[in-house]
Parts: sequence; structure tokens; C-alpha cells
Amino acid sequence: MPKNTMISDAWETALAQFDQVSKRIPLSEDIHQVLRNFDRMLTVSIPIRMDNGFLRVFTGFRVQHNAARGPYKGGIRYHPELTLNNLKALAMEMTWKCSLVGVPFGGAKGGIICNPKTLSKGELERLTRRYTYAIMPIIGTEKDIPAPDVNTNEQVMAWIMDTYSINNGYYTPGIVTGKPVNIGGSLGRTHATGLGIAYTIAHAVKYKKMNLKNLKVIIQGYGNVGSAVGKFLNEMGCRVVAVSSSKGGIYNPRGLSHTALIKYYKENGSFDRFPNAEGMTNESLLELPCDVLVPAAMSNQITEENADKIRARLIVEGANGPTTVEADQRLAKRKIPVIPDILANAGGVVVSYFEWVQDAQRYFWSEREVNEKLKNILDCTYEEVHSLSQEKKLSMRTAAMTIAVKRVAAAISVRGLYP
Ligand code: NAD
Repeated sequence: MPKNTMISDAWETALAQFDQVSKRIPLSEDIHQVLRNFDRMLTVSIPIRMDNGFLRVFTGFRVQHNAARGPYKGGIRYHPELTLNNLKALAMEMTWKCSLVGVPFGGAKGGIICNPKTLSKGELERLTRRYTYAIMPIIGTEKDIPAPDVNTNEQVMAWIMDTYSINNGYYTPGIVTGKPVNIGGSLGRTHATGLGIAYTIAHAVKYKKMNLKNLKVIIQGYGNVGSAVGKFLNEMGCRVVAVSSSKGGIYNPRGLSHTALIKYYKENGSFDRFPNAEGMTNESLLELPCDVLVPAAMSNQITEENADKIRARLIVEGANGPTTVEADQRLAKRKIPVIPDILANAGGVVVSYFEWVQDAQRYFWSEREVNEKLKNILDCTYEEVHSLSQEKKLSMRTAAMTIAVKRVAAAISVRGLYP
């Protein structure tokens, strides 16, 4: 696990990235001020009855950054080290991500300080339902639409949807995305972030003159996102040589089978002693030689301390904010390109948008249609970012942020100031 101090630094990273881009656009001071701040930040107390009969009060948040381009959108994270600063960073990044891929949403993020691994299913359900009730005044299908993030899943989304619908008086599937398909979820949503990252890698390697066949890939964090990346890259013929969970990683330069990894993790709860693989810490995993490194766990994993030790030819950010500003500069000096989170992992929010559209229409698409539309959006966005980065000699992150921030700024500007 990263140190707590590192997690709260995520906000400094997000703000520094935004400030840098604002200066180079340049943004007007008025709009810069609006976007450095948040539309709303709600902190809630969540009392629940634990299985042992005692009452425990948890703390939850919902942070809404900017809704100039549409309702707020962003995941819900359950984590013992969750901080408001961490959520602010993630909410701001959501504003840029939605803008970059052209989906009509603004950025938000929420969560509860808790360790879901220590809670029973009943406790988790009561916590989720009471949290939903607490944030109800500020969420809604046209206001703010939550989704899954670290340690939340389809089941948690189903409880949110049910709690909201009961209080609202009618079935309201569009209140969350990432729901089970039988209650209004979209086909393809579960794996959309990972598939999008795999599409992005396939797109990026063409420009780097690398071959997908036997491409050596390392994935830090083999959860929802990381494991889907592994699955699709295995199918594309790449060689996933190292993976990890919070408990540590494994390495086999000949490649690891996705199916065997999933089976082993289900049975053992970690990758420890996975057959024919060398065990290692998460720190050393990041420093192994490879073609593509995919950090898909938490923020601030590639820092000024380890940036000079990275031996990947390309970094594709699966997690949100895994690279600090200082690390970015060092990687740029060493000519290791980074495909930024707001482009690489945008597949999740794109298919969340598709889910919201399908819920509104009560008309559902085939998985093939979802995947084709997703690929089209990500390919077009990649081209747009790549050509700006080539034309103006910018990093892919700066190019992506420039496009995203300009769009949000234009929306604020044309809407004007109320009153
Ligand atoms: P998850 O909880 O399913 O998986 C996280 C994985 O990372 C787990 O395997 C966990 O054991 C591992 N992990 C945690 N700390 C680690 C550490 N220090 N080192 C190595 N591994 C560690 O979460 P997820 O939904 O896969 O999300 C992962 C990242 O992707 C997060 O940054 C999240 O914000 C981002 N993201 C998720 C989605 C989505 O659709 N779920 C979309 C966009 C971005």
C-alpha cells in the first residue's frame, strides 16, 4: 500500500497539472479561479448497526467539481485511507476525462472511509443504503450519477439504485451506472475500462513501432480494471509478464495466463506462491524491464523516488493519478512516454454514458454495439490528442488536458455567470 501522505498528495498532483495547463492555454484568471474550486463538497455521517449489536458511525463524502457541460459523474470508493483531498483530485480528473472524450458530464467523486474487507455483507448493504440516503439531496439522474470505483461493484450499485428508487417513488435505473444488466445495466460496462485500456495500448504501440504479438506488459493491481486489461491483452497475443495485488506481485518473463491468475487469486486471496513465478514487492514490480507498464491500482505510485528506475518503454495509466508531476518530468527527460489516465482509462465513463442513455430510452444495445461505439470514441480521442501533441511538441498528458480544459472553459464562458 502507498503511504497515507502519498495518497493525500494526489490533490497537489491534480492541482499542479491543472495550473500548468491553465498557464499554457492560457485560461482567463476568472475561469482559472472557478475551475480551481469545487461546486459542492458534502460530508455525511453514516450511523449503522453492526452485526454485533453496536452502533458505529462512518464518514462519507460526495464531491462535485464542475457541471458546466452536464450532470456530475464519478465513482464511489470505499477505502480505509480515503481523504477529502484524494476525492477532490479524482473529481477534478473526472471533469477533464468527460470533457476529453466528449461525454456530456461534469466531474464528481464520493466514498466512505471504511475497510469493506472487515464488514459483513449485511453491514456493507446497510452502510451503502444509509450513505445513499445521506447524499440523496445532491444526486439524481439529471444531477449527479455515481458509479463503481475501488472496492465497490455491481452489487453496491444495485443497492444504491434500489434505495434511491424507493425514496423517489419509482424505478430509477439512471441514478447509477455500473449496475447489473438485469436491472438496467449496460452490456460491456464491467470490463469497459480494461477493454478501453487494451484498445489504447493497441493504438499507442502502432506509433511506437512495437508489435502487439508478444508485447511484454506489467500490470500493477489486478482488480476490476487490471484483470480486464490482462484478459484482453492475453487475447490480443501480448505477454503479461508480471501482475500484483496489494499483497505483492509475481513475475514470469515467459508470460502469465489470465485464466490461471484469476483461478489462483479466487482460491488463495493473493498471488503469493503462484506456480512457476517469482514473488516480489509492488515497488520492485514497477522497476522490471517491459514494453508497457500499466499502473492499475492506486494514485501516486510512480514518484520522483522510482521514476528513474522504471525500465518500461511506454506507460499507460490504468489507475487515476498514478504518476506524480515530478515523476512525469523525469520520465519525459528519459523519453518514456506516458498515456494519461484521462485518455487511457476513459472507457469506463464512456460506457457509463452509454448505460445512462440506454436507461433513459429503456432501449438496450448489444455488447458488440457497445464495444464498437467505445472503440470509435477512444480511437478518435487518441488521434486528436496525438496530433495536438505532435503539432505543439507537448506530452500526451499536456495535450489531453489542454483539449479537455479548453472545452470546459468554453462551456463556462458561453453560459456566463449567474446572477
Ligand atoms: P479494484 O479494487 O477492483 O482493484 C484494485 C487492485 O489494486 C486490487 O487488486 C488491489 O489488491 C490492488 N492494489 C491496491 N493497492 C495496491 C498497491 N499499493 N500496489 C499494488 N496493488 C494494489 O479497483 P479498480 O476498480 O480496478 O480500480 C483501480 C484503479 O483504476 C483506481 O485508481 C480507480 O480509480 C481506477 N479506475 C477505475 C475504473 C473502474 O471502472 N473501476 C475506471 C477508471 C479508473
